Amino acid sequence: MGEAVNFEPADVLIIGAGASGATAAWNLAETKMRIVCLEQGDWTNPSEYPSSGRDWETRAQSDFSINPNRRAQPGDYPVNDADSPIKIANFNGVGGGTVLYAGHYPRFHPSDFRVKTLDGVGDDWPIDYATLEPFYAENDRITGVSGLSGDPAYPSKQSLMPPLPMGKSGQTLARGFNDLGWHWWPSDSAIATQPYAGRDKCINLGACLHGCAQGAKASTDITYWPEAIRAGVELRTWCRVKKIEVDDAGMASGVVYFDADGDEQFQPAHVVIMACNGVGTPRILLNSTSERFPDGIANTSGLVGKNLMLHPYASIQGIFEDELDGYRGPHDSIWSQEFYETGEDRDFLRGFTYEFVRGRGAVATALTGVHSGRIPWGAGHHAAYRRLFNRIAGMVSICEDLPEEHNTVTLDPHLTDVHGIPAPKMTYTISENSQKMLDFSIDRASEALRAAGALDLIVESPIAGGGWHLMGTARMGTDPARSVVNEWGRSHDVRNLFVVDGSVFVTSAGVNPTRTIQTLALYISDQIKKRLTNLFD
Ligand SMILES: Cc1cc2nc3c(=O)[nH]c(=O)nc-3n(C[C@H](O)[C@H](O)[C@H](O)COP(=O)(O)OP(=O)(O)OC[C@H]3O[C@@H](n4cnc5c(N)ncnc54)[C@H](O)[C@@H]3O)c2cc1C
Ligand code: SF4
Repeated sequence: MGEAVNFEPADVLIIGAGASGATAAWNLAETKMRIVCLEQGDWTNPSEYPSSGRDWETRAQSDFSINPNRRAQPGDYPVNDADSPIKIANFNGVGGGTVLYAGHYPRFHPSDFRVKTLDGVGDDWPIDYATLEPFYAENDRITGVSGLSGDPAYPSKQSLMPPLPMGKSGQTLARGFNDLGWHWWPSDSAIATQPYAGRDKCINLGACLHGCAQGAKASTDITYWPEAIRAGVELRTWCRVKKIEVDDAGMASGVVYFDADGDEQFQPAHVVIMACNGVGTPRILLNSTSERFPDGIANTSGLVGKNLMLHPYASIQGIFEDELDGYRGPHDSIWSQEFYETGEDRDFLRGFTYEFVRGRGAVATALTGVHSGRIPWGAGHHAAYRRLFNRIAGMVSICEDLPEEHNTVTLDPHLTDVHGIPAPKMTYTISENSQKMLDFSIDRASEALRAAGALDLIVESPIAGGGWHLMGTARMGTDPARSVVNEWGRSHDVRNLFVVDGSVFVTSAGVNPTRTIQTLALYISDQIKKRLTNLFD
């Protein structure tokens, strides 16, 4: 028989056990408050990750797909992404997206918090880099970040572990950048290159996007969660939240959720923290309608679900004469921020990072070869395959996406999950600015790859399956008419409701968001600790 569930009011109720939920839970644990986290998925056993078996590439097309509509596991919910050229990618379970992420782990630049002032676009954040710096450092320590300090294009930071090996592919690409006189540097990565905090070091198997069975990649199920649970946080899995209830005073009173048996339950709470990501959080806020909040809780501004930002990506890969190191090793090795800040000579504002990626596995190489017409059937098939396998390397450009109100997450009027909760619908178009940035990044990357000796190029733009960075749908700001949460993450409308995930981003920067999401989760939960006595004033 399972343990009886304690439905006494939680002091703090966190919804979602992914990157941000784990981080906030860990930080709040020291208060000794009663903290409960509800997660719709379950723990994943690393020994069952695709990376522990020979069929790792094919499982990435089925039960470990990055697309929840294809994966369709019990912890998943459908997402209608038909009206977006970039399709949803996520993971629903303890650790959230960090179970599948690549572990690219850059910080924002100070300029990213002031794009309105600098470039007259988007909005400035209500907080700055200096405010977040101590929280970046704290998150780096718990997560375990590898990298090399001294990067001239990047804010200063302390490196905790040596960088990942560049390998032959990194060295080859770096030569191309050197020829052109462009910046490159070893990447920051949430992958341990030495034994770290009880975790083993990376052994370069190269299946990071399918769960790291080695435990070298810092997913929050093996970083923050074990410590938070030891400190007394209760993590309840297979609990899918349907809506947040409000009391007569307009405060959040708790949440209605479906438990593992599909029964509806009510968990009362004094404080509610949303950590369901940039799609899952607006979904639940919009579904939390009441007499007081007919358009959804925390939505007086009408901005819940608006300003969805996704980071359009281009992938530019070169095919080389000589054998490189293929897929063996983590995705990241080096990056370039040559085009990160706005350039006066360009026809778009803001910029992007190039992240160099290693080659593809055997199945991915075959699919790429067949689909692009490079591997014929019949005579020459094997020879053509050999010309590609272990000979592909290149980069992705991760482009800063600016906030636009017409890019939205709404509730689908027809589609629901297995519990009957409306599914989210993404409506998204790539802006003219982002399209110009993508095109420019392809042209420059092509130059660099040719300079590095590439014989031929394979380009995909945008990466159609690349909706893995979900930001902006409950933005932070000081003006309640133009933002959903205030400068410390609290809803302008509901004083005991907070958001800690990527929804609060004001702008998206030209880098992966998770290090900043977790840093913000530390910062916001720190504000909760500091203001505990007057949270409800
Ligand atoms: C394939 C892939 C590669 C990526 N690579 C990188 C990378 O290299 N670098 C990087 O910075 N980022 C990367 N990301 C993105 C990264 O995973 C996310 O930015 C990060 O996980 C977001 O954190 P979060 O806390 O906002 O949400 P998540 O980590 O998505 O966590 C949200 C959690 O909430 C739960 N939840 C949602 N709705 C409910 C509900 N109604 N009730 C209960 N629980 C609910 C979900 O099950 C999930 O566990 C990648 C993502 C993917 C999918
Ligand atoms: S390459 Fe390293 S981080 Fe990636 S799955 Fe293998 S051991 Fe883990």
